[in-house]
Amino acid sequence: MQTKQVPPRQRQRITERAKNRCEYCLSPAGQTGIPMTIDHIIPTSKGGTSDDDNLCLACGRCNGHKHDRTQAKNPETGRWGKLFNPRRQQWKRHFRWSENRAFCIGKTACGKATIEALHMNHPAIVRARKNWVLVGWHPPEDFR
Ligand SMILES: [Zn+2]
Repeated sequence: MQTKQVPPRQRQRITERAKNRCEYCLSPAGQTGIPMTIDHIIPTSKGGTSDDDNLCLACGRCNGHKHDRTQAKNPETGRWGKLFNPRRQQWKRHFRWSENRAFCIGKTACGKATIEALHMNHPAIVRARKNWVLVGWHPPEDFR
Protein backbone atom coordinates (compact mmCIF):
# COMPACT_ATOMS: atom_id res chain seq x y z
CA MET A 1 0.00 0.00 0.00
CA GLN A 2 1.17 3.46 -0.84
CA THR A 3 1.12 5.39 2.36
CA LYS A 4 4.20 7.55 2.02
CA GLN A 5 5.49 9.41 -0.98
CA VAL A 6 8.57 7.83 -2.45
CA PRO A 7 11.16 10.33 -3.72
CA PRO A 8 11.31 10.53 -7.55
CA ARG A 9 14.80 9.06 -7.79
CA GLN A 10 13.87 6.07 -5.66
CA ARG A 11 10.67 5.60 -7.66
CA GLN A 12 12.74 5.57 -10.84
CA ARG A 13 15.08 2.95 -9.36
CA ILE A 14 12.17 0.72 -8.27
CA THR A 15 10.53 1.08 -11.68
CA GLU A 16 13.71 0.10 -13.51
CA ARG A 17 14.36 -2.83 -11.20
CA ALA A 18 10.83 -4.08 -11.99
CA LYS A 19 11.50 -3.68 -15.72
CA ASN A 20 8.53 -1.36 -15.85
CA ARG A 21 6.05 -4.09 -14.93
CA CYS A 22 3.70 -4.73 -12.06
CA GLU A 23 5.62 -7.17 -9.85
CA TYR A 24 2.41 -9.04 -8.99
CA CYS A 25 0.40 -9.43 -12.22
CA LEU A 26 3.34 -8.51 -14.52
CA SER A 27 1.24 -6.04 -16.47
CA PRO A 28 3.44 -3.65 -18.44
CA ALA A 29 3.35 -0.02 -17.34
CA GLY A 30 1.46 2.18 -19.74
CA GLN A 31 -0.66 -0.64 -21.15
CA THR A 32 -3.25 -1.19 -18.45
CA GLY A 33 -4.80 2.27 -18.45
CA ILE A 34 -4.12 2.20 -14.71
CA PRO A 35 -1.22 4.18 -13.25
CA MET A 36 1.65 2.29 -11.69
CA THR A 37 2.26 2.78 -8.00
CA ILE A 38 5.00 2.02 -5.53
CA ASP A 39 3.78 -0.65 -3.13
CA HIS A 40 5.05 -1.04 0.40
CA ILE A 41 5.11 -4.84 0.58
CA ILE A 42 4.84 -4.68 4.35
CA PRO A 43 2.68 -1.58 4.81
CA THR A 44 4.13 1.27 6.82
CA SER A 45 1.07 0.92 9.07
CA LYS A 46 2.40 -2.55 9.97
CA GLY A 47 5.97 -1.47 10.48
CA GLY A 48 7.22 -1.75 6.90
CA THR A 49 10.02 0.59 5.88
CA SER A 50 10.47 2.69 2.75
CA ASP A 51 13.72 0.91 1.91
CA ASP A 52 14.06 -0.49 -1.60
CA ASP A 53 13.89 -3.93 -0.01
CA ASN A 54 10.28 -3.34 1.06
CA LEU A 55 9.12 -1.67 -2.14
CA CYS A 56 7.87 -2.97 -5.43
CA LEU A 57 6.25 -1.60 -8.54
CA ALA A 58 2.57 -2.49 -8.63
CA CYS A 59 -0.25 -1.55 -10.95
CA GLY A 60 -3.02 0.47 -9.36
CA ARG A 61 -5.37 -2.51 -9.46
CA CYS A 62 -3.06 -4.91 -7.60
CA ASN A 63 -2.03 -2.27 -5.10
CA GLY A 64 -5.59 -1.06 -4.59
CA HIS A 65 -6.85 -4.56 -3.85
CA LYS A 66 -3.84 -5.40 -1.71
CA HIS A 67 -4.45 -2.31 0.39
CA ASP A 68 -2.69 -2.81 3.74
CA ARG A 69 -2.88 -6.58 3.74
CA THR A 70 0.00 -9.00 4.02
CA GLN A 71 -2.21 -12.09 4.23
CA ALA A 72 -5.20 -13.46 2.38
CA LYS A 73 -7.38 -16.55 2.28
CA ASN A 74 -6.56 -19.36 -0.07
CA PRO A 75 -9.87 -19.66 -1.98
CA GLU A 76 -9.56 -23.45 -2.19
CA THR A 77 -8.89 -24.20 1.44
CA GLY A 78 -10.17 -21.11 3.23
CA ARG A 79 -6.89 -20.99 5.12
CA TRP A 80 -5.06 -17.73 5.65
CA GLY A 81 -1.62 -17.38 4.21
CA LYS A 82 0.93 -14.76 3.30
CA LEU A 83 0.60 -12.74 0.14
CA PHE A 84 3.33 -13.07 -2.46
CA ASN A 85 6.39 -10.98 -1.66
CA PRO A 86 8.19 -9.95 -4.85
CA ARG A 87 11.42 -9.22 -2.94
CA ARG A 88 11.59 -12.52 -1.08
CA GLN A 89 9.92 -14.95 -3.46
CA GLN A 90 10.27 -16.02 -7.07
CA TRP A 91 7.20 -15.28 -9.23
CA LYS A 92 7.57 -18.48 -11.23
CA ARG A 93 7.52 -20.65 -8.12
CA HIS A 94 4.09 -19.36 -7.17
CA PHE A 95 2.39 -18.54 -10.47
CA ARG A 96 2.10 -19.72 -14.03
CA TRP A 97 0.07 -18.73 -17.07
CA SER A 98 -2.90 -20.62 -18.45
CA GLU A 99 -2.59 -22.31 -21.85
CA ASN A 100 -3.89 -19.21 -23.64
CA ARG A 101 -1.74 -17.01 -21.37
CA ALA A 102 -4.72 -14.88 -20.34
CA PHE A 103 -5.14 -16.24 -16.81
CA CYS A 104 -2.69 -16.32 -13.97
CA ILE A 105 -2.77 -19.64 -12.13
CA GLY A 106 -1.56 -20.15 -8.59
CA LYS A 107 0.94 -22.99 -8.14
CA THR A 108 1.09 -22.64 -4.37
CA ALA A 109 -1.24 -21.63 -1.55
CA CYS A 110 0.52 -18.26 -1.52
CA GLY A 111 0.01 -17.86 -5.27
CA LYS A 112 -3.66 -18.80 -5.10
CA ALA A 113 -4.37 -16.45 -2.19
CA THR A 114 -2.54 -13.60 -3.92
CA ILE A 115 -4.41 -14.03 -7.21
CA GLU A 116 -7.72 -13.98 -5.35
CA ALA A 117 -6.87 -11.05 -3.08
CA LEU A 118 -5.35 -8.83 -5.79
CA HIS A 119 -7.99 -9.75 -8.43
CA MET A 120 -5.18 -10.75 -10.77
CA ASN A 121 -7.67 -12.35 -13.15
CA HIS A 122 -10.09 -9.43 -13.28
CA PRO A 123 -12.04 -9.62 -16.58
CA ALA A 124 -10.53 -6.34 -17.81
CA ILE A 125 -6.96 -7.51 -17.35
CA VAL A 126 -7.75 -10.91 -18.86
CA ARG A 127 -9.14 -9.15 -21.95
CA ALA A 128 -6.04 -6.97 -22.13
CA ARG A 129 -3.72 -9.98 -21.82
CA LYS A 130 -5.44 -11.68 -24.74
CA ASN A 131 -4.62 -8.65 -26.88
CA TRP A 132 -1.07 -8.39 -25.52
CA VAL A 133 -0.47 -12.02 -26.46
CA LEU A 134 -1.41 -11.20 -30.06
CA VAL A 135 1.13 -8.39 -30.29
CA GLY A 136 3.85 -10.25 -28.35
CA TRP A 137 3.82 -8.15 -25.17
CA HIS A 138 2.69 -10.95 -22.92
CA PRO A 139 3.83 -12.92 -21.13
CA PRO A 140 7.12 -11.09 -20.62
CA GLU A 141 10.01 -13.08 -22.08
CA ASP A 142 11.50 -13.93 -18.69
CA PHE A 143 8.12 -15.10 -17.33
CA ARG A 144 7.00 -17.56 -20.02
ZN1 LIG B 1 -0.76 -5.73 -11.13
